[in-house]
Amino acid sequence: MVIGMGLQDLNLPNKYFTPEQFRADFPALNRHCVYLDSAATALKPHAMIDATLAYYSENTATAQRSLHNAALQVTATIDNARQNVANLIHAQSSDEIIWTRGTTESFNLIAQSYARPLLQSGDEIIVSELEHHSNLLPWLIVAGQTGAKVIQWSSDVNELSLLMSAKTRIVAITQMSNVTGFCPNLEAISDIVHQHNAILVVDGAQGIVHHNVDVTALNIDFYAFSAHKLYGPTGLGILYGKRALFEQMSVWHGGGKMLKRTSFDGFIQEDLPYRFEAGTPNIAGIVGFNAILQWLERWDSNQAEHYTKQLADYAKSQLNKLTDIQFYSEDHSPIITFNINHIHHNDIAILLSEQNIAIRTGELCAQPLMNKLGCHGAIRLSLMPYNNQQDVDKFISELQNAIEILV
Ligand code: PMP
Repeated sequence: MVIGMGLQDLNLPNKYFTPEQFRADFPALNRHCVYLDSAATALKPHAMIDATLAYYSENTATAQRSLHNAALQVTATIDNARQNVANLIHAQSSDEIIWTRGTTESFNLIAQSYARPLLQSGDEIIVSELEHHSNLLPWLIVAGQTGAKVIQWSSDVNELSLLMSAKTRIVAITQMSNVTGFCPNLEAISDIVHQHNAILVVDGAQGIVHHNVDVTALNIDFYAFSAHKLYGPTGLGILYGKRALFEQMSVWHGGGKMLKRTSFDGFIQEDLPYRFEAGTPNIAGIVGFNAILQWLERWDSNQAEHYTKQLADYAKSQLNKLTDIQFYSEDHSPIITFNINHIHHNDIAILLSEQNIAIRTGELCAQPLMNKLGCHGAIRLSLMPYNNQQDVDKFISELQNAIEILV
């Protein structure tokens, strides 16, 4: 028996979305906390918590190793989850899905296993200014190791055409900025990158939460995201890569189950995807995330996104009534980033926290973008379909109180 079924096997009613029913799935919302920090990590629904509890309380076993029943079940669940991830992002095969610890580890894996053996001194890696540090630092590190250069790019499509050259090997861009909510035109970017025989690396950590992605149709070479931002467990990431690229990459971590045979003379590496997954995987995380992938199938994501956008528009219209406010985020985005002139963003966070309101402030792991925006930090509220108007109203009224205290 597989713990959790394949998405295609579920006999599901038509998809639906009602904000009240969706919200009711999140036990953390009973704490009377207003949670507006979902771009840092999303709250978890019962479906994931129950599946994780069941793994630890009833079905604990290793995967891909032992032959007792519980272990075979867990192994089947992991294979099933891998297929469900492939379906979610429209990968051609589940062999193109690697489990990692998170988006950050996924990019480090590509930088060290794909880029490091390939890059020559003077080669170029084009990285957009929108990037989270996790899609910049791995490139800076590998550039230091190889003599390649990291080229700064505004994320504008026309500018990309000018920056591309025979030296360009890699272009790295986010699907959606975690600071501004901006979504670059991946289709146009992919065309330009491939016309120049470079590869396209996309950070899906924020984008996959709000948008569908088809890595095959978009001809994306590598795509990474983290389970925890998509309602799932912490410590679990996904790296999609085209089979041909994974096949040419050197292995990264060595250890159990990434090899077919070994002796003191060397080793023969395992087939894909296991050769990049040395050691016992995050079994509980994958079991929990598989439950999320099935749970997501119940909800009409278009309706959920529409609702979230309306809520964001409402929040922005209320914020717009404040004087001395400066916005950095896109209109209609579930991410709203701003500053109140002459007030430090962290002072606002502390006062709101005293009222049980969770927001994120600071550099949002995107220092180059913050510099470009001309600030050293900002206030970010990030909305999800489990938020409601009361959350926004409480936030606005406590923000007004905080401003009165701080001016
Ligand atoms: N990219 C973006 C856009 C993110 O928002 C984050 C997480 N805040 C990351 C990458 C890194 O994800 P993780 O810390 O889970 O590796």
